[in-house]
Amino acid sequence: MLDQTNDPTLRSWVDAANVADCDFPIQNLPYGSFNVRGTQRRLGVAIGDQVLDLPAAVDAGLLQIGDAAGALRASTLNAFMAEGPASWSVLRLALSHLLSSGNALLRDDDALRARVLHPMESVTLHLPFDIAEYTDFYASRHHAFNVGSMFRGPENALPPNWLHIPIGYNGRASSVVVSGTPVRRPWGQVKGSEDSAPRFAPSARFDIELEIGAIVGVPSDRPLTVGEAFENIFGYVLLNDWSARDIQAWEYQPLGPFQSKATATSLSPWVVTAAALEPFRVDTPAREVPLPPHLRDAGPMLYDIALDVALAPEGGRETVISRTNYREMYYSTAQQLAHHSTCGCPMRVGDLLGSGTISGPEPGSRGSLLELSWGGRDPVEIDGGTRTFIEDGDTLTLRGHAQGDGFRIGFGECCGTLLPVKTPQRDS
Ligand code: CA
Repeated sequence: MLDQTNDPTLRSWVDAANVADCDFPIQNLPYGSFNVRGTQRRLGVAIGDQVLDLPAAVDAGLLQIGDAAGALRASTLNAFMAEGPASWSVLRLALSHLLSSGNALLRDDDALRARVLHPMESVTLHLPFDIAEYTDFYASRHHAFNVGSMFRGPENALPPNWLHIPIGYNGRASSVVVSGTPVRRPWGQVKGSEDSAPRFAPSARFDIELEIGAIVGVPSDRPLTVGEAFENIFGYVLLNDWSARDIQAWEYQPLGPFQSKATATSLSPWVVTAAALEPFRVDTPAREVPLPPHLRDAGPMLYDIALDVALAPEGGRETVISRTNYREMYYSTAQQLAHHSTCGCPMRVGDLLGSGTISGPEPGSRGSLLELSWGGRDPVEIDGGTRTFIEDGDTLTLRGHAQGDGFRIGFGECCGTLLPVKTPQRDS
């Protein structure tokens, strides 16, 4: 539900927050986990070019939020998420008041501002929540058709279940890392069409997947309706599901990807709340076949979020290689979470759900290099060269924002640099 925190005319006394292309205006207020050199990790809120220190603001009596204040002393968001949606709203409203241009309480107190605000460039950002478990889906019609066409031919591109359930697999929470963490090219078992036998080798087709990650904020232990599932999601991040295509092609049948997706998953450090995205809700695309009642949308449950992917070679300039939009997804996160709970599977605070690669209908709107280069056949132009898959030293950066009237709800960046392979240890 829209409230006064979504008012497009709101302005902050943090000047940088009022610039039209700033990712963190007062309508956003995303949460992160940070530290300043030599100090402990704690929770913060991004506002313009500053980070508001949440425990320091509580200690200074700036946020009157009742019992939930204790949860803001943790180093990650899980305890606060567990306080529930009523507390989420109370804190968001208190932050909106505190930071709005007409409120002198902090605005006019230099000493207090110095204690509770940190310049963004002075902080180190960490994973904003403890990832309980990680599930990844395969829910963009365009992506599934493209990949299926390459792996099985266009006539068999969509698996027979694809239009009836959001397909997913249980991934690894242990290899989820925050933006900026380097990723090491993995080894794995591969068998190309020219190989007479499988071989153990460095992945030669290492790739990205442009996704949105949704964070479960309300636990459940029974099947959820789609409407309930939507309400249980605390917020969203950008997610890069790094993927070794050559390892994937050999291992994926019959149980889905395993080692090909377990090297790393990168997240943007700021959790953009569902509350901040409320003005940008849109419907899923038209159904090609009707969904069973328990998976039908109960209203607009996708979001209009412009997304892009940039690639920069080592020491070189970046090139945007893809532009797309989250609204292209066939299934919403709410449908995915409802499906995930149908068997009675308990969902926990901090469960991470990857949307699946987000690809649009145009060649330049595909969310992976596998699709952009069509399996390596059509190299992608970048500054000073071309790419089919990622080369050592390349930095991949995902960006995204929802465009409002005079402001935007930005996600910041999700980036990672690929390090060269290491020689594996062997028993002598
Ligand atoms: Ca994926």
